Amino acid sequence: MALSITHLGSGSRGNSVLLQSDETNLLIDCGFSLRQIEKRLSIIGFSAHEIDAIVVSHHHSDHSKSAARASEKWNARLYSNLETAMRLGLSPIDQVRTFSSLERIQIGPDLSILPVPVPHDDAENVGLIVSNGKGRRAAVVTDLGEATTELMRHLEGCQHISIEANYDWNRLMNGPYPQSLKQRISGRGGHLSNSQTAEILGELVHSNLSSIVLCHLSEKNNAPHLAESEVLLEIGEEFKGDLSISTQEGPEFTHWLGQKDPELITRG
Ligand SMILES: [Zn+2]
Ligand SMILES: [Zn+2]
Repeated sequence: MALSITHLGSGSRGNSVLLQSDETNLLIDCGFSLRQIEKRLSIIGFSAHEIDAIVVSHHHSDHSKSAARASEKWNARLYSNLETAMRLGLSPIDQVRTFSSLERIQIGPDLSILPVPVPHDDAENVGLIVSNGKGRRAAVVTDLGEATTELMRHLEGCQHISIEANYDWNRLMNGPYPQSLKQRISGRGGHLSNSQTAEILGELVHSNLSSIVLCHLSEKNNAPHLAESEVLLEIGEEFKGDLSISTQEGPEFTHWLGQKDPELITRG
């Protein structure tokens, strides 16, 4: 009855997370090349053909790059909302199963997802709440300018949260990006800064929250120690769980909610 979360890598050059329940294997986002995803899965002793389904959060290529090809090659079902499918040129009839926001989708016998809309420029992005139906819930949320009340409500019920910490405010503002891009990144439809992420997590620290992964860190405008220290400053006193960072290299680690499956341990 466990649910595990393994980040295969995260950042503007590619994102992908493997979620495993006892009977279902799900990839959220497929933003690396097919070869790279297969390589990263094989590093954790996992065959790509064991993937049952791929969910694409939004059409940006760092989340969708090889999703369609992977779905075809691995015979894995592909899911996205309609806007994302259209932007990727995928047919909702035979290539992708489309979902609506806040519609719970059963991915396998013991795994479902709830897509929660989040503000992100020029894309209909969703955060994903993954549940094994036995009380284990994990959230994967990247690429948003701010957390909505609705998203916060759904994050409250999660024991694991993977959330972006995209940029350090000072680095972004004093960095090389043109003013217009700085404004876009820091705006409502951009990305979360370390301090915004820290504030969000500050509201979510509760006794059930057991692990946090900070992801989608900008390589130009952020650094792991900056993201980590800003978050710890906010939640360090209260949070007793595990805080880690997913970078562009991976796979890095697996977080477990619930009892580990011995077979999965030997693989991982
Ligand atoms: Zn994006
Ligand atoms: Zn992205």
